[in-house]
Amino acid sequence: MNREEVLQAFDRMRVWQRGDQRAVHKPLLVLLALAKVGAGGTAIMDWNDAEPVLKELLEEFGPDGSGNSRHYPFWHLKTDGLWQLDGPADILSRPPGATPTLTELRKNHVRGGFPPALLETLQRDPLLVSAIAQRIVDAHFPESIRNEVLAAVGLPTEPVGLMSVQEQTRRRDPAFREKVLLAYQYRCGVCGHDLRLGRRTIGLEAAHIKWFQAKGPDVVPNGIALCSMHHKVFDLGAFTILPDTYQIVFSQHLNGSDEAAARMLAYQGAGLILPQSNEYLPKPEFLAWHEREVFKRPANLKGHLR
Ligand SMILES: [Zn+2]
Repeated sequence: MNREEVLQAFDRMRVWQRGDQRAVHKPLLVLLALAKVGAGGTAIMDWNDAEPVLKELLEEFGPDGSGNSRHYPFWHLKTDGLWQLDGPADILSRPPGATPTLTELRKNHVRGGFPPALLETLQRDPLLVSAIAQRIVDAHFPESIRNEVLAAVGLPTEPVGLMSVQEQTRRRDPAFREKVLLAYQYRCGVCGHDLRLGRRTIGLEAAHIKWFQAKGPDVVPNGIALCSMHHKVFDLGAFTILPDTYQIVFSQHLNGSDEAAARMLAYQGAGLILPQSNEYLPKPEFLAWHEREVFKRPANLKGHLR
């Protein structure tokens, strides 16, 4: 396979999607396999080695509960022509819909990896490995946590200069950031951070509530001005905002013993600093998407009014 054929094969990867639910199983497995190729080690993984890593990645970056179906991509990716399995014939000969159980995969040491023709091209071209990884994180994760995802699978975090297909086909509104910051009077909706150097804001960002990668629109009711810290933890699902009261609710999984953790949790139950006009208020359907697809349940209800 040549470089172009390999890029196209990955761009064609079908990601299971029902409406706007997030499906990050295949992308995370592919990133993990790319990291193995990039590291020069064997790119064929025994399920028993891949499982704990995939489980952790899904728990950290996938919607709630997605770790339970951690074995799906290991089986289903072969229908995309991107994966090859090795193991007992009675398992491998099953139809695509008959996913083996976790126990079957473990007991039989089923192994999976990129098919040889694809693997050879990737092994010859480390830049291609980074380019594909970058396209995949761009397509499935917001900018604020892309480097976290890459680092978690063990891939380098420097961007390479190839635009993803999604970026090429779907134009972003360049004014989104400015409109959102203006709506929130250039301060973080959680902590009020409004540091400036002269007239330039520092560390203030326009966050999408429903991710751009999940077809969230570039409109002010889908945005909140957040400082870089609150933007990152919002995209990781450490807190969400209730659609009816605009209260900030943290995840029970967020913890820490130092001052930074105490500062963060001080906003538990507090209200979002609202935008200048009601027309800019976050739309309940976008907040509900964030709570369902990003927030790490269960919620910490301390100090919560409801
Ligand atoms: Zn903040």
